[in-house]
Amino acid sequence: MGLVNLSHVLLKAKERGYAVGAFNFVNMEMLQGILDAAVETHSPVIIQTTEGAIEYAGIDYLASMARMAAEKANIEVVIHLDHGKSLDTVMLALEHGYTSVMIDASDKPYKENLSLTKEAVDRAHKFNASVEAELGRLKGIEDNVNVDDAGSTLVDPEQAKEFVKATGVDALAPAIGTSHGAFKFKGTPRLDMKRLELVASLTGIPLVLHGASSVPKGSIEKANKYGANIKGAAGVPDDIIKQAIKQGICKVNTDTDLRLAFTASVREELAKHPEEFDLRKILGPTRQAVKAIVLNRIGVFGSGNRG
Ligand SMILES: [Zn+2]
Repeated sequence: MGLVNLSHVLLKAKERGYAVGAFNFVNMEMLQGILDAAVETHSPVIIQTTEGAIEYAGIDYLASMARMAAEKANIEVVIHLDHGKSLDTVMLALEHGYTSVMIDASDKPYKENLSLTKEAVDRAHKFNASVEAELGRLKGIEDNVNVDDAGSTLVDPEQAKEFVKATGVDALAPAIGTSHGAFKFKGTPRLDMKRLELVASLTGIPLVLHGASSVPKGSIEKANKYGANIKGAAGVPDDIIKQAIKQGICKVNTDTDLRLAFTASVREELAKHPEEFDLRKILGPTRQAVKAIVLNRIGVFGSGNRG
């Protein structure tokens, strides 16, 4: 109960065949919505921040809110750094009580990714924290960087096997065809499940699915109804997520869905109550909107009553 590291929740998930949701937050309302849903369903939960979120809110604010939330909750909570790009950020997170870090050097040559990941593992394990790394490169908007078709590659399973052995990393995010952001597929959604299965059997460690938001139609319709202009958005359907979990995915990241639900809620409040300027009335309902998304995700991942 309370604060645990990533391996603690993912090894159980791997053994029992479900996935634990990792949800990004940038402010108090998002964090409360995520925790409310996890506590209500007795689900373990991973709360995570990107470098962009840390830059926006300050790590002191994010880490102290997250630690307090974890201590208060009667479920297992992991505080994770999402897409840490440097050892400096990794150390900053570890020193602020994060129990898990991602070192993402997937944009660097393989050898550099390997040595940076190994160094992150050595440092994080001294804090009893876990490390996630990435192989191959996802398309789309990652924090503030846009990766196009030419810049993206799928994971090489044999290389993944060697990488995991050489680095001792705890979890691996293999690029298998998802992308970051709200515009994931132009045609039929498709992930490389064969590749995923091969990576799972060759590495033997818990795998992570990035770019996994479902981009719910309801959020898009609500946002557009109240003034947004979001066209052609498409996410990963629930049945594909469930299949990926069967093939070895133990951690599923969700960021876009929360952003869409949050902003759609703000737009609705402002449009329905143009006279309102009480922040509590405008931002308060976002907690429910975020919570509803997380409840749905926990149902898809099968992590309820496992906390
Ligand atoms: Zn990601």
